[in-house]
Amino acid sequence: MTNNTATTYDGDVTLNGSEQSPVEIQDPADVFVGGESITGDLTVQNAEYVFTHTPVSGAAAVSKGETETNIRGTLEDGYVQSVDGDVLLTDAEDVFIAADAVDGAVSAPGAENVYTDESIPVDSPDKYDVSTFGWQQSGSATDPESGVYAVGMDHDIELEAVRRDVDLYLVGHGHDVRVDGRGASVSVHFVGYDNTVHVGPYLASAVETDTGFDNEIDADPYPAEDLVEMSRREAYSNAGFGRRKVTFQVPNEDDEWCPNCGQAAEAIIERHQMEAFFVFGWPLWTYDRSTNPARECENCSPNAVHAELSERERREIFD
Ligand SMILES: [Zn+2]
Repeated sequence: MTNNTATTYDGDVTLNGSEQSPVEIQDPADVFVGGESITGDLTVQNAEYVFTHTPVSGAAAVSKGETETNIRGTLEDGYVQSVDGDVLLTDAEDVFIAADAVDGAVSAPGAENVYTDESIPVDSPDKYDVSTFGWQQSGSATDPESGVYAVGMDHDIELEAVRRDVDLYLVGHGHDVRVDGRGASVSVHFVGYDNTVHVGPYLASAVETDTGFDNEIDADPYPAEDLVEMSRREAYSNAGFGRRKVTFQVPNEDDEWCPNCGQAAEAIIERHQMEAFFVFGWPLWTYDRSTNPARECENCSPNAVHAELSERERREIFD
């Protein structure tokens, strides 16, 4: 214990590799442990909530009295970015541990609640288009290749022109991610709470893991107007004067299931036909009209943008 360094801090503390291990952080508020950050063991002693994608055992691997660096004071949040050796977190509020954060064992004795999931395959943070770490970070990417990796609190992230499948790996709380694009799918992993992902109408999305609570995907519905080739107004106006046959499509806002393909649908349209005597674009006298119009939806319409297009089809559409 002769070399034990006790450092008194005020506010947030970040472990970035300069501390002699084992390192103890005493009585912090929340602690965020980033991917590939600890080469030794991690023990979380008496935390309130622990959110983790790393398997957790009950027995302490790192004990008090063995630590070389002791960080205490009036601490706010802790960020673990890089430690060569073991880490002990004592009396933290909430602790968020990314997948593959720790080379050794993770233990959480005395935690009030542990939210855990099986280890899931996650790339290194630097393999993602946007990788953020810390408090109130922001980032964005256009035409991303892999997605987002965020660890910390209150990150504001935007992905634009997404046309390849992306993963969002979100650790912590208060993250807000907006994803827009076409013909691709968005797979989301949540580790923590109060995280929201907004997804544009032409993308498929799914929560792959939800390790925590109050996390959600807010997906815009597919716009039915997009499936309409010819609106009623346009068809009437094109009809001009005289007896004409017209075809047009109108959104059906009542149905939730498509009678054509049998799938749940956000956007359903009806294909109408009509033969009428038109005067200045108005059907004065109707001879015939379709009584049971054909319907189609975003899953079966030839006019829809599909998330499961092959790479070749995408190139044809987008290039
Ligand atoms: Zn359909």
